[in-house]
This record gives sequence, structure tokens and C-alpha cells, in this order.
Amino acid sequence: MKSNEHLLDSHIMIVDDNPINVEVLQVLLQAQGYAQLQGICDPRQVEPACKLQLPDLVLLDIQMPHLSGQVLLQRLRAHWGDRCPPIIVLTAHIDESTRHQALAAGARDFISKPFNHQEVLQRISNILASHHSYKQRVSEASALESLVAQRTAEIQRQALREPVTGLPNRRAVIAELEQALVAPAAVNVAFIAVDAIDDIARLHGYPVTEQLIALLGRIMGQRLQNATLGCWGNAEFVCFQRETHAFPPFIETLQALQQALSRTFQVGDLRLGVTLRIGVSRSGHDSDYAEQLIRFAALALPERTGEPPRLFDEDLEHALQQRDRLHRALRSAVSNQELHLLYQPKICLREGRIVGAEALLRWEHPELGTIPPRDFIPLAEGSGEILTLGRWVLETAISQAAAWQRADLCQGDFTLALNVSARQLALPDLADEITGLMQIHRLESRFLELEVTESGLMDDIVQAGNQLQILAQRGVSIAIDDFGTGYSSLAYLKNLPVHTLKIDRAFVDGIAQNSQDRNLAKTVIAMARNFHCRTVGEGVEHPEQARLLKELGADTAQGYWFAHPMPAEDFARLCREPPDWSF
Ligand code: C2E
Ligand code: CA
Ligand code: CA
Repeated sequence: MKSNEHLLDSHIMIVDDNPINVEVLQVLLQAQGYAQLQGICDPRQVEPACKLQLPDLVLLDIQMPHLSGQVLLQRLRAHWGDRCPPIIVLTAHIDESTRHQALAAGARDFISKPFNHQEVLQRISNILASHHSYKQRVSEASALESLVAQRTAEIQRQALREPVTGLPNRRAVIAELEQALVAPAAVNVAFIAVDAIDDIARLHGYPVTEQLIALLGRIMGQRLQNATLGCWGNAEFVCFQRETHAFPPFIETLQALQQALSRTFQVGDLRLGVTLRIGVSRSGHDSDYAEQLIRFAALALPERTGEPPRLFDEDLEHALQQRDRLHRALRSAVSNQELHLLYQPKICLREGRIVGAEALLRWEHPELGTIPPRDFIPLAEGSGEILTLGRWVLETAISQAAAWQRADLCQGDFTLALNVSARQLALPDLADEITGLMQIHRLESRFLELEVTESGLMDDIVQAGNQLQILAQRGVSIAIDDFGTGYSSLAYLKNLPVHTLKIDRAFVDGIAQNSQDRNLAKTVIAMARNFHCRTVGEGVEHPEQARLLKELGADTAQGYWFAHPMPAEDFARLCREPPDWSF
């Protein structure tokens, strides 16, 4: 008969107190090609030998002095359990009860003495083959098991990592911070916002942005070695540190980080500039929990980029509560009829006559009093409430302009200007809404002007450009507000239907005292000419400023020296009986 080749190097242990039996089996198996045979005549040596090297098969005599095969069988099974090699019992007794006992103790098969060679070899080969495939299955299963365990660990690790930076993600940061808060020492939490990332993504795409963020994450990790750093969002990082004397004050570390990172970075061929804003919160109440501390740190982010790290304290909390109150009140401002418009005249510098007005929004709250636009417009822009306010302003201003048109107040080049925010410019039906209102109120489009800021345009230049183009085609004028304070690139002006540039008050302020301001104003006016735009000087508070603006070639001016913003009736009276503005 032929054994399976691969079974021939199996380790076979032959245990029989009769050396002749051992010899016979060894010779038989050797002749068959089995190479690793171990004969043992003293059953007491079996267990130590197995401990040295566990065989693949044991041929075990049942009747032996000192230790019976039956007991040895039980001991081996008990000691090695699942790993116990298969055992074939060698016995002269083939009575049922001996067989039954041996089977119960875990014997796999029997070989009767005297040996029938063919049978011996066949039984040994059968058992070895089945043991071999069993061992293979076990080893495959355990390999698979460890692979699954590895994958599971990897998936768990990934579930706690932010993929771009490889830093702990939100979930991990919260869990680790929660852990840190258990200890008695106070914990400082920083929320780090990387500014300009959105612009970089828009200009250069996401692969570049991700490289930059990964680079920033690495540098932050190096600089914040005593702290735990994680990635909170696209361009936001969170880090925290337990307060101990061993570390320098957290805020100093953060200031140094801010300085080190507020610069340009080389990514591929590009040099990209970033700046940071950092808000900090500190645990101190029993009720502190991770997400709240992170939220406080985020709320403490300074408004303007480049400002030093700011701590969340009681004052800030109070200011935020105030803002919250204002915000809630804002939601009902329109329905409660708490809004009205004031009109500030625009004066032609050459002729000294009124050529238009700017509508400015006012909010009169029954308890909170008069709230200036700089306090509620940014709030409304942030929350989307500006759309409701904006619609109200459009409706009110257009209906007012129509009334003035009927009363013959709008003549010649008169325009009523109103301010339109970024959110409104992003509305795909803004042009149609305005056109609809002009039709309802029968206002000629040439009397209407929209003031938009550069930053408002830049939010979505394509969408804003589309809406403005439609409006310009329908005869509405477009003015760029606060000109000179926003973007340094003027390329966008070429593609937009801009009729007027409003020179920001910042330039008009120093125009009389400061030659640098005067030069700036002069440049802006010359630039406007280049683009065939009219110019309006904003914030004229002294006749000297008006005179200089006129000298530099500005067309119109607006400011407290001419008139403060006023109710519609006062404006109408002013138009009918204009004062003598000589400067
Ligand atoms: P703005 O569009 O630049 O409006 C001019 C601001 O300068 C007005 O402030 C006006 O009252 C003020 N002003 C006019 N002449 C002078 C002057 O001689 N000196 C000084 N110091 N200030 C002068 P106001 O009314 O407080 O409005 C502030 C800002 O709020 C506006 O700046 C505009 O950006 C925004 N805003 C006002 N009304 C609306 C509106 O209906 N919709 C939108 N989206 N924004 C509005
Ligand atoms: Ca304006
Ligand atoms: Ca302005």
C-alpha cells in the first residue's frame, strides 16, 4: 500500500513495555518511509517526552507495568486537550468493554496484536491523514481569526482617526477629553480654526488643501507635545492639556503656535498663506463635560483672524447670552413691525444738489431699545434671518421710491440705493423678486440702485454675477460698497456690471490731514474712472473733506455734514427745500 508522501515526516511515538513490539512497529514503519519514529518502553517517560515535543500520533499499549495505557490516555487527553495528538491503542484484548473504555478515554482507533502489517499501516495512515487535515483546518482558522482581529483593530483605529491628518477625530477627542476631566486637575481646551482654507480650496482644489491641512496637523502635533491634539473638522483642530506646573502656561504655548503657523507654506509649487484663530476654555465646574468645553472654546474664537487667543470667560458668556437674546428677538422683528428705514441723502459735489439717497435699516425693540445695524446685521447674516429682513427692506424701499416717483421727487439721475447682503445675492431668484416688486409698485428701474460689498460678491461670484447682470440689463444700477477695504484684486470689476464705487469712510476720514489717505483716495477715484464708474465719498463729516473729494474728482458724497439718515417725510422735505451746502 502507498502512504501519502506528505505524511511520512509525521512524528510517531510508539509506546509498549515490550521492546519487541516497539521494534517490530519501528521496522515496519521505517520500511514504509516514516522518518520520525520514537520508541518508548517505560510508560512513565511518555508525558515528559510529549512535553519536549508533541508527536503527531501515539501508538499506545494498554497493558503496561507502572502506568496502564488507559490511565496514560486519560492523562494525555486531560493535559493537552484539543491539541492532544490522536492515539491508537495497541491491544491483544479485543473484548467490548476494553474497547469501550479506551474509546471513552479518547482513543481514535485500535490495532490488534499480533500485528497484521497491512492493517497497521492503513490505520496509521488513515489517522495521520485525518489529523493532518484537522491541523491544517485549525491553523487556517486561526490564521483567519488573527487576520479578522487585525482588520477589526485597524477599523477601530480608523474609526477614531481623521483620515487627512491621521489625528484623533471628533469621537476620539471627546472620549479622551472626557477621560482627562475625571482627574482633579483643571483641563485647558483650545479650539484652533485655520482661516483662508475655504479660499485655498476654491482656488487650488481639495488635494492641495488636504496636503496643507495634513502639514499643519503635523507641525501642530510637534509643537503641542504636552497636549492631546485632534482634528475637529475640515480646518478646525481641538487640543487640550491638563494644568500642571510641569508645562508652560497653555496660552503661551498657543500664542507661540499661532505665531509659528501664521505664515506661508510650500505645497507642491504653491506658496499658501494661512492664519489661525484660537479660542480657549478651562474646566473648573463639576458640571463640565467634554463637548461643552469644546463648544465654549469655539465660542471664544476671536472674530478677526490674527487676533491673539481668547479665553472663554464670564464677560464673553454674558456677551454671547446677550447676542442670543438679540437673535431671538430678531426673529420676530419683521412681524412685530419693529423695523423702519431711514434715508441719507447723496449730494452731487459739482452742483451741491441731492441726487439720491441710501436706505438704512433701523430696529426699534420695545425693551432692548434702538439696536444699530452693526449689532444685528452680522447676526442676521449668520443665521439666515437676513433674507427675511432683506425682503422687507426691498419691499419697503421700492414702495417708498415709487411714492417719491409719483410725487415727482425722483427726477433725472435720482437713485434710491439699498444694501443687499451676500445671502440675498446667492438667491437664484433675487433679480426676479426685485423686478416683480418694481412692477407691482410701478417703479422705473433707473431709480433703483443696489449696494453690494466686495466680500458679499466673493461668496459666490458666479451666482451673484448672474443676478446682477440680469438686474443691470433691466436698468437697475449696481454700486460696490465700502470700496477699498476688501479685496486687493479688481479683476472681478471687469466682469461685473458695476456703475458706482462707494469710497469707504476710512479713506475719507483722513483725507484733510493725511497726505497718504489723500493719495489713496485719489488712486481709488482714478481707478473708478478707469472702470467708467461714478464715485461716492462716504462719511463726509467736514466741509473740507467734501471740497477735497470734489477736487480729486469724486462725483457724489454722503455724510453727517450734509445730512444724517432721516425718516422718509424729512427726506422729502429736504428735497423740496434743499439747504445751501457750500464748501
Ligand atoms: P454702509 O452701507 O456703509 O452704510 C453707511 C453707514 O455709515 C451707515 O451706518 C450710516 O449711518 C453711516 N454714516 C453715514 N454718514 C456718516 C458719517 O459722516 N460719519 C459716520 N461715522 N458714519 C456715517 P448704519 O446705518 O449704522 O449702517 C451700518 C451698516 O449696516 C451699513 O454700512 C450696511 O453695511 C449695513 N446696513 C444698513 N442697512 C442695511 C440693510 O438694509 N441691509 C443690509 N444688508 N445691510 C444694511
Ligand atoms: Ca451702503
Ligand atoms: Ca459703505
